[in-house]
Amino acid sequence: MTTSPETLQPETLACHAGVGQDPAYGSIAPPLYLSSNYTYAALQSKGAYEYTRLANPTRDTAAGAIAELEGGAGAVVTASGMAAMDLLSYAARPSDLILAPQDCYGGTYRLLTQKASQGYFRVRFIDPTDLDALAGVLAQEPPKLLLLESPSNPLLRLTDIKEACRIAKPYNTLCAVDNTFMSPLLQQPLALGADVVIHSTTKYLNGHSDVVGGALVSATTSLHQFFTDWAGVLGNTGAPFDSYLTLRGLRTLGVRIRQQQQSAQQLAELLTQHPAVLQVNYPGLPSHPQHGLACRQQAGFGAMLSFELQGGDVAVRCLIHSLKLFSLAGSLGGFESLIAHPASMTHATMDPAARQAAGISDQLLRLSIGLEATDDLLADLRAALDTVQTQCLMSSGA
Ligand code: PLP
Repeated sequence: MTTSPETLQPETLACHAGVGQDPAYGSIAPPLYLSSNYTYAALQSKGAYEYTRLANPTRDTAAGAIAELEGGAGAVVTASGMAAMDLLSYAARPSDLILAPQDCYGGTYRLLTQKASQGYFRVRFIDPTDLDALAGVLAQEPPKLLLLESPSNPLLRLTDIKEACRIAKPYNTLCAVDNTFMSPLLQQPLALGADVVIHSTTKYLNGHSDVVGGALVSATTSLHQFFTDWAGVLGNTGAPFDSYLTLRGLRTLGVRIRQQQQSAQQLAELLTQHPAVLQVNYPGLPSHPQHGLACRQQAGFGAMLSFELQGGDVAVRCLIHSLKLFSLAGSLGGFESLIAHPASMTHATMDPAARQAAGISDQLLRLSIGLEATDDLLADLRAALDTVQTQCLMSSGA
């Protein structure tokens, strides 16, 4: 058995990144450097650090850990997931085309449409799960950037990352994957051929619902340098304290994800069996149309799921009101279980026609499964679904 970094399990890398490397005191936990600036030894003789907008030791430690976990050449830690997405968009010039998934996160859709409307680049929303259609679109006009989000938010649709990247490579298209829903422990897009990985570290990587942050991981040093330079110019780099908390959260990513996805699987199965439920989207269910791809492409099925209820608005309101352990909130990936109504929350800024084209209905609800005891979550969801079935739907005549 060997302990070289290439053969270590991701959980081990997450625990060991930056540990015991403090040059001043040998502290086990990497120190937090809040300082905004650093002294020059003499005129024209700057040290490793100069100004925190450009680089910061704590942020670099977090970035190094995330890059190592994703198998990348480097990572830029940004002030939010959207800041990472915006940084990525600097790869495209005004004449360039960006292809993005039609059912991507609502904030990504908004960023791309708003920047395109101001002439920063052109954007086209496609269904990347259909590889034949993707090949056709690429051949029609090779894009500068192909953005994938797998599993997608909120419909949990999967894209075959390896195939999509293989199809795009001959066109010199940059392939980027938003890996927020999976984390590097469950999916490694760079190993599947992607050039860039995006994270909202707000979610699983930090995992404690107390940081808004992001990361952009590049496969090559030259790409990493390109994005590092732009981040320094734009000043969208992450704050040292946020970077410190993110690294702290990262230590427990393995155990969190394991517990969360184990609960998610059981909750998804409960949903499929309940008469109040119309449809369940979870890649861990054999009934998911891409279950086979999930088994090949992912090391687990994750802890996000979505579903549609029978009975429209009445049922949606009734379920949200009846749940005791799921807070109604828009984020995901934290220690606490959440329920969201994408049409009015995370995807409210998408115009209704685009939402409809993507398949995001008004009955769709999304769950982010937390670290509560599985049995408690099951009991809470079962009771709330029973209430929808027996009280709300009966009394509304739906
Ligand atoms: N990507 C995905 C898949 C998301 O769900 C989100 C936020 O919900 C983002 C990116 C944006 O991240 P942030 O909210 O940290 O800016």
